[in-house]
Amino acid sequence: MNFLQPVFATLAALALLLGIPGQSSSSSSSRPAPAPTTTATSAPSTEPSSAPSTEPSSEPSSEPSTEPAAPAPTPAADCSNCVALTYDDGPMPGTTDAILDIYASRGVKASFFMIGQNVAEHPELARRVKDEGHTVGNHSYNHLRLPEHPDKKIWNELFATNWEIQEQTGVEAKWMRPPYTDYDGRVTEASRDAGLSVTAWDVDTADWEHKNPERTCKTVLDQAKGGSIVVMHDVHKETVASTECIIDGLLAKGLVPVTLDQLVPNPTPGTVYRTRTDFDAFSN
Ligand SMILES: [Zn+2]
Repeated sequence: MNFLQPVFATLAALALLLGIPGQSSSSSSSRPAPAPTTTATSAPSTEPSSAPSTEPSSEPSSEPSTEPAAPAPTPAADCSNCVALTYDDGPMPGTTDAILDIYASRGVKASFFMIGQNVAEHPELARRVKDEGHTVGNHSYNHLRLPEHPDKKIWNELFATNWEIQEQTGVEAKWMRPPYTDYDGRVTEASRDAGLSVTAWDVDTADWEHKNPERTCKTVLDQAKGGSIVVMHDVHKETVASTECIIDGLLAKGLVPVTLDQLVPNPTPGTVYRTRTDFDAFSN
């Protein structure tokens, strides 16, 4: 079994690195671990799980290997510690469902602004978003810069997407995000007529531009505060890769990811929301 030797060598090196004690000195294994500082991401338990278990495992397996789970924060009554994480441009197989898997594993929610055309192409995915308790929003039918188009076209973009969402998911959309967050008075008026509140954001990750998961996560954790609305895009694998870091990082800061429906329970159609408390009432 010569081929195992490199494995054992690697394990020995790992043991040295991790400081696994050869002798269990005192049995006070309940010694408090050094206070967890902010290095929440340096999870230590990357153990070689595939270790050939021929070792006489005499060691008291003192690895509790559960995550250092601080009690998960809950939304305040007024949602002042809530953050709405929002995703544009889906639903897209391969990325939207991967993001949904992560949210399901953490038991928290987000909002998905869907392109009508994508809803028609991937209705099962749109339904899954709704079935798992996330907010389904309107992101126009063809992802146009709405202010560049006549009123009738703007109307069609919004109403056709509302119709598609309702047809495929049963949801009557309450929220829309204009493509490129580009809107004017005609867009907010058409939104009001379509029963839609408009959402902008106060935290822009630019995830679509740099496609760097660490940067996306850092932007959210640095900038999001209670009441924030964060914009991302569920069509990039790099955004999928940022998701765990974002959710776990927010929770560690006492912030709770929620849907827009939770963040702003009774939005006013035509009003533009940048955060829970920062909005422009509809005026025309
Ligand atoms: Zn978009």
